[in-house]
Amino acid sequence: MIYVIGIGPGSKEMMTLEAINAIENSEVIVGYKTYINLIHEFIKDKEVVQNGMRQEIDRCTEAVKIAKTGKNVAVISSGDAGIYGMAGLVLELVSKEEQKVEVKIVPGVTASIGAAAILGAPIMHDFCHISLSDLLTPWEVIEKRLKLAADADFVICLYNPRSKGRSEHLSKAFKIMSEFKDGKTPVGIVKDAGRENEEKFICTFDNMDFDRVDMTTMVIVGNKSTFIHEDLIITPRGYTV
Ligand code: SAH
Repeated sequence: MIYVIGIGPGSKEMMTLEAINAIENSEVIVGYKTYINLIHEFIKDKEVVQNGMRQEIDRCTEAVKIAKTGKNVAVISSGDAGIYGMAGLVLELVSKEEQKVEVKIVPGVTASIGAAAILGAPIMHDFCHISLSDLLTPWEVIEKRLKLAADADFVICLYNPRSKGRSEHLSKAFKIMSEFKDGKTPVGIVKDAGRENEEKFICTFDNMDFDRVDMTTMVIVGNKSTFIHEDLIITPRGYTV
């Protein structure tokens, strides 16, 4: 059996019981080392297969190989495994196998949801997730989705917003959205949600502080009715209050 486990954004408190049980039920743990470190207390002396960030295919192929020997193996993703995580890749690989391999996807608190709770209630209404990483998605597709999502007035949660190699992606994204997002639209920035150095910052679209954002940051851009109250961002659901 392969468990594909979302461990939440970082803290033990944001893991589900199902995730903890699945890890405990596994004999081998496969994952990127940063995530393995976050859950070391549940791993104890289990066998661990870890390698770098860009070796996802190797890691998941190894997990399938181990599962075929009859062992229970846990593939670890941060947040939710089905949101820019390992769930899809594991299922794609297994679908190509002749031998049946059981897979169980264990959901987790994704970064947008973890960050939203820290910011107040910025999502509340229709929203979308857009990843600014063009490693697996052509940049033109990302631009089109940003434009149409902003035009449709979705609350927009940006994953993979800014890395050293692609520091200009976030400012380009804001330029595209600026056609539809008012300058006063609230923007929430949460770095390392649920982790040791968690930081929260609230600003407006026009005053966006790009330098606060790195690869472990979630950026949430409000919709036309989103407002800031004290240190919170609120998107009304539509109730009359
Ligand atoms: N499967 C993960 C997402 C992986 S993509 C999930 O469901 O959360 C990686 C991106 O997620 C990062 O670039 C960042 O934008 C976001 N992210 C992951 N963990 C985070 C955290 N603890 N705090 C803020 N953003 C986080």
